[in-house]
Amino acid sequence: MIDFEFEPQVVERLKMYHMVAENIMRPISREYDEREHEEPEQFFQTMWQAQSLADVAPGGDLKKEQGGSVKPSGPKLRNLLTCTTTEELCWGDAGLFLSTPNSGLGGAAVMAAGTPEQKTRFLKRFSEGEPKWGAMAITEAACGSDSAAIQTTAVRDGDHWVLNGTKIFCTGGQRAVEKSDGFVVVWATVDKSAGRAGIKSFVVERGTPGMKVARVENKLGIRASDTAMIIFDNCRVPADHLLGSAEVRKEGGFKDAMATFDATRPIVAAMAIGVGRAALDFVRDFLREQNVPIRYGISPRRLTAIERDFMDMEVQLKAARLLTWRAAWMLDTGKRNNLEASMAKAKAGLVVTQITQKAVEILGPIGYSRKLLVEKWMRDAKINDIFEGTQQINMLIVARRVLGYGNKELN
Ligand SMILES: Cc1cc2nc3c(=O)[nH]c(=O)nc-3n(C[C@H](O)[C@H](O)[C@H](O)COP(=O)(O)OP(=O)(O)OC[C@H]3O[C@@H](n4cnc5c(N)ncnc54)[C@H](O)[C@@H]3O)c2cc1C
Repeated sequence: MIDFEFEPQVVERLKMYHMVAENIMRPISREYDEREHEEPEQFFQTMWQAQSLADVAPGGDLKKEQGGSVKPSGPKLRNLLTCTTTEELCWGDAGLFLSTPNSGLGGAAVMAAGTPEQKTRFLKRFSEGEPKWGAMAITEAACGSDSAAIQTTAVRDGDHWVLNGTKIFCTGGQRAVEKSDGFVVVWATVDKSAGRAGIKSFVVERGTPGMKVARVENKLGIRASDTAMIIFDNCRVPADHLLGSAEVRKEGGFKDAMATFDATRPIVAAMAIGVGRAALDFVRDFLREQNVPIRYGISPRRLTAIERDFMDMEVQLKAARLLTWRAAWMLDTGKRNNLEASMAKAKAGLVVTQITQKAVEILGPIGYSRKLLVEKWMRDAKINDIFEGTQQINMLIVARRVLGYGNKELN
């Protein structure tokens, strides 16, 4: 049975994250949007301390689970809890959330594809209290939506794998490569002739010779988060940095790598919901100040246009949240959530772009002005429709699963 009733400790923790979002992130939101690529050092320190107080960090890291005592809702609900904290922090600022010191999408990839020993080894230092920046590098110039088209190679040489290739648009890539105790999870092919079955993921730790940042992008939104091009030039990693099994299995081999998305898509959906909720809350307060009522429980034909718009925004956001929580809960309870993760991601990416655009529209010119954060939320929203599988790709996955087609029949 699905039960989203949170225990009091979890509710308390969410309140703490909300306070962080409101009092720490919002006040510097505009500043680090405008000062793209500058390091919010004070923010890093504060967030590190705030996370130390919680049992599970955003991004799904192993914290108290390894030897700690407090587990408010049990470790099995880690993904669901990560979604709820992600929503709170992205209500504060999605770009700063992506800059928060934690193992991020790289950590989620380790959790999804690594062996139990690898999970402990690669996420251990984080759990022991050192900041760690994790990133996930899949996209290349000729490979984005089609993850199977990866050109980066990994060649076995004795006790090592040697990586060669260039990854682009890697979120948090610069911090993961250059900050203390960072790592990048890199997708590469170990056997091009095997097609998608030959794709494996590798952990490359900061300071590994042959890994360097070539460029940092200037972007439309989430500007506090760095997005890097990373070059791997004869980059040698120990053999046991390959996540999971090195065996190239024709059947199901690629599914292991793709399982990463089943874990990360609900988190990205939760990011979208946080941004959408920020816009919705702002519009609610604005309408209240203008004495524009939102009347619930009356016949739809008597609603004003603004009431319809507002209620539609609310409904869409709630629907996206329920899909997201279900996808995370399924992962936590060991159920295959590939369909649900894509449903949640597609829905949340779509509704956050609609809600934030509608918010700008309802507010009029002031909504478009930089005096408010609403225009920023509209810019921050769009990325949720792009990374971790675009809107179209997630819809495609949903259609395949619902209709029972493979990627050859429906592409
Ligand atoms: C700010 C930012 C951060 C990012 N962070 C990361 C990261 O951390 N790690 C990482 O690996 N990547 C990251 N990416 C890359 C992102 O995941 C890709 O841009 C995305 O997957 C799309 O791939 P692409 O750019 O190659 O576009 P393409 O695959 O070329 O797609 C272009 C357009 O065509 C559509 N399309 C493609 N194929 C189909 C199809 N079969 N049917 C219908 N429509 C289709 C797409 O939906 C899209 O609208 C990031 C991108 C941005 C902008």
